[in-house]
Amino acid sequence: MKILVVEDDLQVARQIQTSLKGVGYVVEVVHDGEEGYYLGNNDTFDAVILDLGLPKMDGIKILQQWRNNDRNMPVLILTARDTWREKVVGLRAGADDYLSKPFEVEEVLARVEALIRRASGHATPLLTCGPVTLDTTTNRVTCNNETVELTALELGMLSYMMHHRGEVISKTELTEHIYDQDFDRDSNVIEVLVNRLRNKLGAGIIKTHRGLGYQLVEPTG
Ligand code: CA
Repeated sequence: MKILVVEDDLQVARQIQTSLKGVGYVVEVVHDGEEGYYLGNNDTFDAVILDLGLPKMDGIKILQQWRNNDRNMPVLILTARDTWREKVVGLRAGADDYLSKPFEVEEVLARVEALIRRASGHATPLLTCGPVTLDTTTNRVTCNNETVELTALELGMLSYMMHHRGEVISKTELTEHIYDQDFDRDSNVIEVLVNRLRNKLGAGIIKTHRGLGYQLVEPTG
């Protein structure tokens, strides 16, 4: 899962980045409004954390323009001023949730997790597909009730596929959501990861659609 953080307070930005990375998200951080607007408008993110008071372009304007351009990723706004007006303006501009500063990073993590979950249509933190479960609050994966150890990349891929269960997901889409920008897109690491997940969770859990991509399915038989 890939998160964009737009925050001009370097210390707050670093704190959010560290905690998101610590639980396996791919994180991009920018410190001014114009750059944030551009990235959110042109790249793919599973969620955005957007400060409202930013240099060059303010958060409300960024949000309005994203929504005008049909950029529909979930957005959590951060506000330094604890006024109800700013929250109302932010929500009406298209924010999905808000947090007032100062906040605990645990709360940021919980809110981002809930936003991503709801954006993909899941009401509870426990995602299942056949014998496989993923608890999105702890990142614990089980298969037939036994804990399965996954690497960070395997977990990133499984998490994206669990959130988009049943959809055929292209290699490009998987790459965009589980790697940083500078990743070499021509390599075959996605196939390698798919094979490793099949080895750990059962061959039937990921179906290949030639030329189209991969689909997480409930294994049959
Ligand atoms: Ca600010």
